Amino acid sequence: MKKELGKLLELQDIDLRIRKLDEEIAKGYGDLDERQAVVDARREEAVELGERLEVVGKEKGDVAHDLEEETNRLKDRQTKLMNVQTNREYQSLLKEIEGTKAENKRRQEEIERYTEIAEAMVAKIEELNNLSDGEEALLVEEKGKVESLAKELDAQKAKIDKVRSEKAGKVSKTIYKRYEQLRERRNGMAIVGVTDGVCQGCFMNIPAQQFNEVLRGDQLHSCPTCQRMMYHKPMEEE
Ligand SMILES: [Zn+2]
Repeated sequence: MKKELGKLLELQDIDLRIRKLDEEIAKGYGDLDERQAVVDARREEAVELGERLEVVGKEKGDVAHDLEEETNRLKDRQTKLMNVQTNREYQSLLKEIEGTKAENKRRQEEIERYTEIAEAMVAKIEELNNLSDGEEALLVEEKGKVESLAKELDAQKAKIDKVRSEKAGKVSKTIYKRYEQLRERRNGMAIVGVTDGVCQGCFMNIPAQQFNEVLRGDQLHSCPTCQRMMYHKPMEEE
């Protein structure tokens, strides 16, 4: 059984190395994805802002159209004013003219406000797009680096994988199956040391009798708490 334990430990060591390489590759791509997501969000913000800008432009156009119409009407009324017959008519027309002038002044101000808003939006859109362009150029570069690193790590993995197959082939089928199940469920650690009666996987005590048996190493034991396979790991090794 001691021999079997040794093989398992070697296998686990290899698996942990492969796992680390996988994580490193995934991290590289994950970082890229995260940065791309920031760029995408910014692009989307620019598009949404562009849509709002269109609305603002349309509203401004409506007001400008009203202003033009009312300005023409004002001219008509002013012409009419020269030809009125009665004072009552004159006063009424005058009142209308004053009203329209006030309205037009308000329209003019509104147009200016729309213009300011639109200018700010255009500037913001440009800023967002510039930032996105810059970041995307960097990302292209970064992607190249990640891809070449991934290639390198994949090559390392391929080498280790070969050794792994050889090692795995030497472990008994039943134990190998158990090892694989535990590895999946226990975050890559299927076999752990027991030091001074404490499982180094879950840090719980194991029964004294079981610890004695683990010490002897004749049989493969599983931790009663985390179910990992155990081997005796003396304190000095740490
Ligand atoms: Zn345990």
